[in-house]
Amino acid sequence: MPLTLQFLGSARTVTGSNFLVTCGGHRVLVDCGLFQGMKDLRLRNWSPLPVDPATIRAVVVTHAHLDHCGYLPRLARQGFRGPVYCSAASAEPIGLLLPDSGHLQAEFAKIANKKGFSKHRPALPLYTEEEGREALKLLRPIDYDRATDVGGGVNVTLHPAGHILGSAFVEMNAGGVRTVFSGDLGAYDRVVMQPPAPLPPDADYVLVESTYGGRRQDHRPVQEQMRERIGPVLLGGGIVIIPSFAIGRSTLVLYHLRQLVERRELPQVPIFIDSPMATDAVEIYCRFSDEHNLRPDLLRDSHVCPIRPQDVRLVRSVEESKQLNDLKGPAIIIAASGMAAGGRVVHHLHRRLPLRENLVLLVGYQAIGTRGRSLLEGAEKVRIFGDEVRVKAQVAAINGLSAHGDAGDIVRWLGTASRPPKRTFLVHGEEKGLAAMAQKVGGELRFPHSTPDYLAEATLT
Ligand SMILES: [Zn+2]
Repeated sequence: MPLTLQFLGSARTVTGSNFLVTCGGHRVLVDCGLFQGMKDLRLRNWSPLPVDPATIRAVVVTHAHLDHCGYLPRLARQGFRGPVYCSAASAEPIGLLLPDSGHLQAEFAKIANKKGFSKHRPALPLYTEEEGREALKLLRPIDYDRATDVGGGVNVTLHPAGHILGSAFVEMNAGGVRTVFSGDLGAYDRVVMQPPAPLPPDADYVLVESTYGGRRQDHRPVQEQMRERIGPVLLGGGIVIIPSFAIGRSTLVLYHLRQLVERRELPQVPIFIDSPMATDAVEIYCRFSDEHNLRPDLLRDSHVCPIRPQDVRLVRSVEESKQLNDLKGPAIIIAASGMAAGGRVVHHLHRRLPLRENLVLLVGYQAIGTRGRSLLEGAEKVRIFGDEVRVKAQVAAINGLSAHGDAGDIVRWLGTASRPPKRTFLVHGEEKGLAAMAQKVGGELRFPHSTPDYLAEATLT
């Protein structure tokens, strides 16, 4: 049975993870992500897929990040009715993420229409909160390490990827070929997450992420970096804005903040988690304790819980969020999205960027074309809601908090292969990361490899 793979996204770019597998006429999509960042990338979210979504049998989602699952409501709207397989620990955050994504898009369209800064009249959301919620009905949580028949002779098994809670890499057995889709991979030796599981034996093809392919991450202790950056700002009465999604990296940020405050290396100030999805992440970490290193007995004790600092306040309603506009420092505000491309953090940046005493602390990867990337590169002004906002606040990035492994981690993971795969496809990377990964995969590992283009097709035999 001929097996073909088409790269519908994450090809020579980081976002928009979408891989279409066709086996004997049956179609399965691995990941169903949104394109983020540059405008020409975002426009792809609006262009039709090369195949009719109604003909796709199933989707397998690696993890609860929008660039891997955020297109699902759009796919459903275009007629996709099949099951969406994901890990049990992913289903919960996806359940929060998709309605929230719809809500934010509708909100953004409303502001664009009111202020008239969009070329489109009226500006429309890619999907609504309701459509985001509707798509959740298709979710089918499955266990790790257990093969699931997704129809048409295609079997998939999820393995822990160590990137965020619930993240998986996908082993697919179809047409006599074993293909592995890395999704996003975590690192080895992290305080919270367990490392990625080894590759299954005899993988014929591997698609591997290259987000940090060109970099060894700064392993200077994260807490030292945080103390140096955050300490002076809090002492000066400023506000620290941390763009980050409510579950996932925020947990790691809270973990480090708690330790710093306990050791009195940072003053205790209120920490606001501003998100309609702000939930007590503690509960979900308790339930899925196999994937992380935090001790459940400590998690359950609110006095010593390592990811619940003393003064954390969950801000769910829009009203409460607006009240934060009048907040006086010192304080810390954590709000999505991590690349400041959307979400409530954008309002906070609008308000806080023009003031010198504040700090924007970037804690994850910033894709080209996002506001986060512009800030990281020292932009003097950024465009928010049609306004030119002057950047007077300090901007800093913390290394080592990324949920992605660096080049060394990725090579180590590929090195768990029982034999060189027939081909390793380098995906999820920008040009520099991909070029560096190509050198490592070809040089250090001597694996045959290629870097596919957007919409490229490969026959897997
Ligand atoms: Zn991710």
